[in-house]
Amino acid sequence: MSSDSETPFCEGSKFVDSVIVGGGIAGLSAALFLARAGRSTIVYDAGRSRIFAVERVREFVGFDGWTPDEMLTKVREEVLRYGAQIRSGIVTKIESRSDGLFDVFAPDVTITARSIVLATGLIDELPPLKGLRKVWGRDLRICPCFDGNEVRNQRFVVFGLPERLAHLGSWVSMWSPNVSVVTKHSFDATGAERLRLLGIEVVRDEVTGLFTRMNGLSLFRPKTVPRYRVMPPGLRPD
Ligand SMILES: Cc1cc2nc3c(=O)[nH]c(=O)nc-3n(C[C@H](O)[C@H](O)[C@H](O)COP(=O)(O)OP(=O)(O)OC[C@H]3O[C@@H](n4cnc5c(N)ncnc54)[C@H](O)[C@@H]3O)c2cc1C
Repeated sequence: MSSDSETPFCEGSKFVDSVIVGGGIAGLSAALFLARAGRSTIVYDAGRSRIFAVERVREFVGFDGWTPDEMLTKVREEVLRYGAQIRSGIVTKIESRSDGLFDVFAPDVTITARSIVLATGLIDELPPLKGLRKVWGRDLRICPCFDGNEVRNQRFVVFGLPERLAHLGSWVSMWSPNVSVVTKHSFDATGAERLRLLGIEVVRDEVTGLFTRMNGLSLFRPKTVPRYRVMPPGLRPD
């Protein structure tokens, strides 16, 4: 815990109670807690939160429908109110010291801290699928819970890791009666029966690319089936 004699905390201080690596929602939550508990706290953030993949945050209580920028700005304001510092930059190294403290190597300075919070999030390793990066988080949705309501009843194509596909296909069907699963793999009897009972089409093929058209529709081209699209109700596939 900080005290005036041990941990002078001011701009440029090199000795603090806590350094938080990562200023996404997790790191900022930790900062709010620590700062309110009277701990001198510095957050370093490289500015690459996963949430920036989307235009609007969904299903996060208090922030549903906000842009990621609006949400993080609001939370940063709350954190700053309690005296934490938030700095832009990448922490490149952390070394534990023999006295139990940590040296944290930030771009501009090395800071000694009593504790470290690692809130660095995840980096999505995307498969090498043509066009994927452009539609990621936009026309290509990754989570029915986050996105299903916004595209309810549209045409969905579900693809991905074979072991989760039967479950994912049936899950997506909660938001639309119009779901196809594309896979080269076979389902076990339970998975296949579940998809059959829900009327979900299974296309034996693989997805090889995705792209967005002028009218905003996202297409993919399996090798042999003609074309499918995520589309508003009423339109038909080409
Ligand atoms: C396509 C997509 C859609 C999503 N939609 C939603 C949604 O609608 N609603 C919802 O609630 N969630 C959604 N999520 C999930 C949400 O993005 C994550 O749950 C959330 O971002 C996790 O917060 P975090 O703080 O753990 O990590 P992040 O938000 O990823 O933040 C981690 C931060 O740490 C920084 N960092 C990493 N390493 C260092 C370092 N060495 N030094 C300094 N900084 C560093 C990164 O740059 C980043 O800014 C979605 C995710 C994706 C991919």
